[in-house]
Amino acid sequence: MQNSGGRHYNAIPGPSVIPDQVLQAMHRAGPNIYDPVQQELMDSIQRDLKAVACTRHHVAMYIANGHGVWEAAIANVLAPGDHVLVLATGRFAHGWAAMARSLGITTEVLDFGLQSTIDQTRVAEALAQDKNHRYKAVLACHVDTATSVLNDIDALRNTITKEAHPALLMVDCIASLGCDRFLMDEWGVDVMVSACQKGLMTPPGTGFVFFNDKAASVRATQKSVSSYWDWTGRANPRELYQYFGGTSPTHHLFGLRAALDLLNDEGLESVWHRHRVIARAISSAVEAWSVEGAMALNISQAAQRSNAVTAIRATAPDGTRIRDWVEQYCGITLGVGLGMAEPDDPAWHGFFRIGHMGHVNSQMINGVLGSIDAALKALDIPHGSGALEAATTQFAGLDSATSR
Ligand SMILES: *Cc1c(COP(=O)(O)O)cnc(C)c1O
Repeated sequence: MQNSGGRHYNAIPGPSVIPDQVLQAMHRAGPNIYDPVQQELMDSIQRDLKAVACTRHHVAMYIANGHGVWEAAIANVLAPGDHVLVLATGRFAHGWAAMARSLGITTEVLDFGLQSTIDQTRVAEALAQDKNHRYKAVLACHVDTATSVLNDIDALRNTITKEAHPALLMVDCIASLGCDRFLMDEWGVDVMVSACQKGLMTPPGTGFVFFNDKAASVRATQKSVSSYWDWTGRANPRELYQYFGGTSPTHHLFGLRAALDLLNDEGLESVWHRHRVIARAISSAVEAWSVEGAMALNISQAAQRSNAVTAIRATAPDGTRIRDWVEQYCGITLGVGLGMAEPDDPAWHGFFRIGHMGHVNSQMINGVLGSIDAALKALDIPHGSGALEAATTQFAGLDSATSR
């Protein structure tokens, strides 16, 4: 039997599933971009983006993917010759660091490997050694999508504060925004970057840089900032054309408005809670399978796992075999392992990831887990039993009111 009917589930960690409401909102004729209605739309989107980020400060919007807002953030507060401290827990902080280097910035990278979170002791040491305060910023990912690690940004801010270091705290929330609890102002994050195609459920194409007044004052001291990347006019536009530094991404805005409505209707606490229960259902299932050695969670400590994505280690080539099987027979595409091994290394076929960000619910995840369970049986991969039971036990807790 070959899967042919039914709806395909692209369970990769971004771009994520697009809700019908978002697709339908985009299906319309192009608007007059100078119509004052457009201003209301963009103001409402800025307001609601800030609510999702839990900030009262500023947001600048860009026609860009995540890489674009990496550059936008750097362009506003850093200049060639500046030094930054980069904290890597997977692949993406390395990408941001490479972007910084290409712009003439010197990066000191602390690498915490592929299976654990940021070690605050090492960060404190690095900051303490930086007596002349050369580091102008500390860059980190909230969630690294390759490893599925969740970093404790609140603890990181406390480390910087304890060392009395003036560096800006700059955080990549591209994978985590709208999935994992993130409190920009309460945690003292100065600059945060995100994009629309993961927890925000909109086709790739718009990105966001959130910044507070401290970051704005650093921006004010910059000798020159590319007028396109400059966040000043975008965050506080005096005319319609400034919101996006030119023509706005009209249909993305219609889609994003619908996505933010969905988030508002559900409520941010409930959204986080749903992601948490889903992540726990997946990790419970993987733990049950792992009893016979079929696979293991890449991040062993529950508190260090993201609620948006789960990275899994199997034995090569079983990761690829499982992915191929569920795609062929069940209509589910799982994510490949990213950054765990080079694609030409046979070990690469040992990894896979489940994306569970944004528009996902328990029946979709039950489908993913049931399909993987079927793959393990069909492919004769030894595995522990009770995975689905373990998952549904977690889903039975979906109606409890609180997140963490
Ligand atoms: C997806 C992702 C990126 C890259 O975003 P693009 O839109 O592909 O440029 C960067 N950082 C993290 C944590 C991501 O998950």
